[in-house]
Amino acid sequence: MHVKKQVVVIGLGRFGTSVVKELNRLGHEVLGIDSNMERVDAVRDFAAHAVVANATDESELKSLGVRNFEHAIVAIGDDLQASVLCTLMLKEIGVAKIWVKARDLQHQKILEKVGADRVIQPEFEMGVRVAQHVGSEKIVDYIDLSKDYSILEFAATSKIANKSLSELNIRDRYKCIVLAIKRGEEVNIAPVPSDPVRLNDVLIVMGHRDDLKRFEERGL
Ligand code: ATP
Repeated sequence: MHVKKQVVVIGLGRFGTSVVKELNRLGHEVLGIDSNMERVDAVRDFAAHAVVANATDESELKSLGVRNFEHAIVAIGDDLQASVLCTLMLKEIGVAKIWVKARDLQHQKILEKVGADRVIQPEFEMGVRVAQHVGSEKIVDYIDLSKDYSILEFAATSKIANKSLSELNIRDRYKCIVLAIKRGEEVNIAPVPSDPVRLNDVLIVMGHRDDLKRFEERGL
């Protein structure tokens, strides 16, 4: 079930603005804050509320009712001091979940110390993702569950197309579990052994990193 959340996004650069737009598209209620009026105006059509304010001023944050938001995303760019101060204030105000964009490892460490629940380094994380996609064009997307376990999305090749899951026997051969099969907009979330795989279906597969690699290299 889709849960509608109230999210405050602070700092409306390219990153913050794209967060606002996607949250809005997903049906969440967004409050966008920036000290720059043009940036605020640019998200007005995409946010339930868009306000010009200084996010390092605690009384301004309080008067905007930020305490009623369950989730905050701080995307203040290079101003390290402002980003740390704002994170601290959100913590003190009592916002339950605080995610913050960092520019580098040092910034990340400070944010973790002051209580950020998640720190994001977009350029770094995207760089890793792009590099991994170069390594395998068969992988559509992935989620790392831990150091060893992941969920990968594989595009079905002609090698496995028009075979059923039981014929492919991915679980026994590769110790990987097919969680779902996506075909266009349709998602089969509880595939059974007799379900066929078609060319270009996307298989969502969970397993140990080494087993997933074996499946990718030999099974696809
Ligand atoms: P990108 O555009 O790639 O996201 P960036 O993270 O460097 O890059 P900036 O373009 O610097 O982002 O945007 C950060 C935003 O945060 C700016 O719009 C800036 O006005 C806003 N900002 C900075 N300090 C404050 C503050 N104290 N209160 C509110 N907004 C702030």
